[in-house]
Amino acid sequence: MPPTKCDSPRTRILWGMSSAIPLNVGITRSASTGNADSAKRVLLAEPRGYCAGVDRAVETVEKTLEKHGAPVYVRKEIVHNRHVVETLRERGVIFVDETDEVPRGAVVVFSAHGVSPMVHESAAERSLHTIDATCPLVTKVHQEAKRFARDDFDILLIGHEGHEEVEGTAGEAPEHVQLVDGPESVGNVTVRDENKVIWLSQTTLSVDETMETVKKLRERFPNLQDPPSDDICYATSNRQTAVKAMAPECDLVIVVGSRNSSNSVRLVEVALSAGARASYLIDYARELDLAWLEGVRTVGVTSGASVPEILVEGVLELLAEHGFGEVQPVTTANETLVFSLPRELRAAR
Ligand code: SF4
Repeated sequence: MPPTKCDSPRTRILWGMSSAIPLNVGITRSASTGNADSAKRVLLAEPRGYCAGVDRAVETVEKTLEKHGAPVYVRKEIVHNRHVVETLRERGVIFVDETDEVPRGAVVVFSAHGVSPMVHESAAERSLHTIDATCPLVTKVHQEAKRFARDDFDILLIGHEGHEEVEGTAGEAPEHVQLVDGPESVGNVTVRDENKVIWLSQTTLSVDETMETVKKLRERFPNLQDPPSDDICYATSNRQTAVKAMAPECDLVIVVGSRNSSNSVRLVEVALSAGARASYLIDYARELDLAWLEGVRTVGVTSGASVPEILVEGVLELLAEHGFGEVQPVTTANETLVFSLPRELRAAR
């Protein structure tokens, strides 16, 4: 599959004129190198990369390996990042699609995206030793789904069909949940009682597109209720805000992330809609096509919430080799959130 890309030039928004740009954007300018390449620069989004949920999920697998030894089974990719998955596989993790592929009694970790109650049941039937690395912010959406199903609401779950997180959340109340896969799906929604309808969402969606979907849903169902708190998580929304802040200045935005990573793919879309002239998603520096740099003066760099910083460093090194040695951070938020490990691993942290 080719990199996600768009080559069409777009109208550029002047710095500071987009309403999407937060007031606290800070740019620290690095010293000019004074050479011919000094006009070239990199804008580096902050925050980027690992979120608290991914950090916890990856550490959960590492600590499980330390405690129980290899092999450790993980249902689905622990997080959607090729490098992380390949590195853990080398250390003795066996990734499976379903629990029936795990030998009876073995240790299995559930991924950060969460699982439905049916998956817990099938693991129990096989006497598996389960360790749940579901992000607490995904668990929060599961709790909302259960609560509103108990109150007999129709739940309109905005998300991408087939995504593991959506399957897990919908599985909490399959008879109450309908998937709404973007604004174009709104016309297909039917509800039993227009006064008992709530929307929830996948945690890693585009904030703007989700709001558009909600607007269309509300045109059809004026009494549609909002979730008790934002379902799109802080990390997804912070990374999109940082990209929006730098994109209008960028000829090119490189997003480091995997193609099955929802929040990484959204960053490419957000960069383009915020004014970047082109944007590409790559897993590794070696996938960066040097032709993309022709005629480019400002390159934006960011990474999805499942991406280790070492991969971003690789991209920055490659860019520096090609004249983009000046790096200017674009900081829109500082993140300090840390989640505790699953109970049985806490002592190991
Ligand atoms: S992207 Fe958000 S919901 Fe997903 S693991 Fe990270 S913090 Fe949790």
